[in-house]
Amino acid sequence: MTKKFVGAHVSASGGVYNAPLHAKEIGAKAFALFTKNQRQWVAKPLDEETIEKFQEALAASGVLPKHILPHDSYLINLGHPEAEKLEKSRMAFIDELERCDALGLDKLNFHPGSHLVKLTKKQKEDTALLQEIEERCLDVIAESINLALDATQNVKAVIENTAGQGSNLGYKFEHLAYIIERVEDKSRVGVCIDTCHMFTAGYDIRTKEAYERTWSAFGEIVGFEYLSGMHINDSKPPLGSRVDRHHSLGQGEIGLDAFKFIMNDARMDDIPLILETIDETLWQEEIKLLYSFENR
Ligand SMILES: [Zn+2]
Ligand SMILES: [Zn+2]
Repeated sequence: MTKKFVGAHVSASGGVYNAPLHAKEIGAKAFALFTKNQRQWVAKPLDEETIEKFQEALAASGVLPKHILPHDSYLINLGHPEAEKLEKSRMAFIDELERCDALGLDKLNFHPGSHLVKLTKKQKEDTALLQEIEERCLDVIAESINLALDATQNVKAVIENTAGQGSNLGYKFEHLAYIIERVEDKSRVGVCIDTCHMFTAGYDIRTKEAYERTWSAFGEIVGFEYLSGMHINDSKPPLGSRVDRHHSLGQGEIGLDAFKFIMNDARMDDIPLILETIDETLWQEEIKLLYSFENR
């Protein structure tokens, strides 16, 4: 029996109960979804009938709730520098956590946030200044998480690493560790590592040596006890480019070896491994390909 739970970020358009159906169609043992339109601030609350239909579809799919990794709206910035917009983000994030809980799901995946400070090239090279700006924002993000966890129950806040495009934080393992350190309830915080983001942020995983080096840094800085899910993507841009562009497995700069290592790494057992690759018509094949890598 495999200990790997591979799936994809499937569409929930028309209703959240459609997500498990799509997961089943592609032979997924895990999936990600948006529990509301990801480009809108507000959505009507989930009613009883919708929740019931979701539970039924989920049971039929065979996917366990712990292998589902809901993703929050792209509009939310938990590190927003302006009070009003920060408040709006925090309210929306709490609503997202509540929606997951209503569906019986135990995780919510989100991008940490962005400081939005426009820096000149010269300022970016001033590492002390950059660190000060980033840490100020990371403090706000940690406070946002604490407020949200206080206001909700059951659901774990799963912080995703980023490519570090623009002013997005979370591109260094140290950022994730900095936030976790400041979260009061450590039992309700985790991380999701996206292979494309990791790679374009400068962490190489293409050879066995590079893979082990990168993950041992992760283990030391963040800790595997926090690894709650992964996004399995190849990358269009090269190592360290800080650009977030996913690619289909084996077609990008990462190549297939990294995914072979993951499929045979017990540290990634029993967590959702989610494809966010660009061609959804390939997902079924990509899932099969990943399982074929396992040395059972
Ligand atoms: Zn991702
Ligand atoms: Zn991405």
